[in-house]
Amino acid sequence: MPNIVVVGAGVSGLTSAYLLSKDGSNTITVVAKHMPGDYDIEYASPWAGANVLPMATKASSRWERQTWPELKRLAEEVPEAGIHKMKSRVYRREKDLEKLRKGEYAFDGLFQENPWYKTLFDDFRELPKDELPAGIASGAEFTSVCINTMLYMPWLVGQCRANGVVFKRGVLKHISEAAAWGHAGGGSKKVDFVINTTGLMASRLGGVMDPDVLPVRGQVVVVRNEAPYMVSKSGTDDADDEVFYVMMRAAGGGTILGGTYQKGQWESQPDPNIALRIMKRAVEMVPELADGKGVQGLDVIRHGVGLRPYRNGGVRLEKERVDGTWVVHNYGHAGWGYQGSYGCAERVVELVAEASNQPKL
Ligand code: FAD
Repeated sequence: MPNIVVVGAGVSGLTSAYLLSKDGSNTITVVAKHMPGDYDIEYASPWAGANVLPMATKASSRWERQTWPELKRLAEEVPEAGIHKMKSRVYRREKDLEKLRKGEYAFDGLFQENPWYKTLFDDFRELPKDELPAGIASGAEFTSVCINTMLYMPWLVGQCRANGVVFKRGVLKHISEAAAWGHAGGGSKKVDFVINTTGLMASRLGGVMDPDVLPVRGQVVVVRNEAPYMVSKSGTDDADDEVFYVMMRAAGGGTILGGTYQKGQWESQPDPNIALRIMKRAVEMVPELADGKGVQGLDVIRHGVGLRPYRNGGVRLEKERVDGTWVVHNYGHAGWGYQGSYGCAERVVELVAEASNQPKL
């Protein structure tokens, strides 16, 4: 009867706990400083859009490839999960394509020409020139999903609780403290596995202190206006670290206008100048959003800032022994934590199984 403690209740921790809880022989406790319902700068998951726009390169696409079928199934068959399908457009600017061809493009695999993910989506199509807006060199369209994180995270908590997972609030200074949080045998049983899903805070947690983890600041504006489709663009003229995307959450969750991609910035407060530029870019690219009335036609719900848990070298998904207990790490998902969540959590399940089969030290 493996006794497991998951540290963290963001999308990585909740999905890991959920998949582990499908094996009824596991006893699982989730301990976290922040839980679904909280908004905090140390907690990335509530701030995400969140949609599926593949960011990996072909070589690193495993996590996103494995996640897509499950998010699609949830959108089609499980309305209470708060996910819906929506058309998505990806626009590439010539100047970004030139940088991309030279290997100088700072962002991700999303804007590649002839991308690996064209076979992932059922209806991927390159857009003909007459369907492209001015200033856009090429683009593609496909049906993706958008997750209402405010509904989806509680849904994950519910799935976990239905499988017997116990949730507790707690703040750990050192990862080895997780061994004291198991609930098996009324807390008397030794913890066999700790799953570390602490996101950005893996940079500050004792026993982990990962120097490669840093924030990528994302400022957003959430509006009541409805978007006809989701859209993202390979760059903006405003600043190198300002980006453009629009996505509409399922079930009245509002439309997210983004944004920024500011590496190494911890500032938690929205910058009003950036907010104005985000709104201007949105109504210029998608005038229908505000019925052609421009920024004045936007109805703001809130301004927000989230920090993407970026990691130099990519996500950390591996196991190690810390003070005699197996720790399985699953952190550092930057801007793709939802769209890679099932693939990564499946790897967590595999790592726990591998460690279970190793002789005890
Ligand atoms: P977090 O959500 O940060 O959770 C960390 C958990 O660990 C929290 O519960 C925290 O309290 C807990 N914790 C940390 N330290 C301790 C400690 N010492 N003791 C106890 N508990 C601790 N992803 C997508 O897939 N699609 C998108 O469209 C998308 N858009 C985004 C837009 C923005 C603006 C931002 C900011 C992010 C976006 N992301 C998107 C990325 C996504 O939000 C993250 O990759 C994901 O939320 C990371 O989840 P996590 O569970 O690893 O970390």
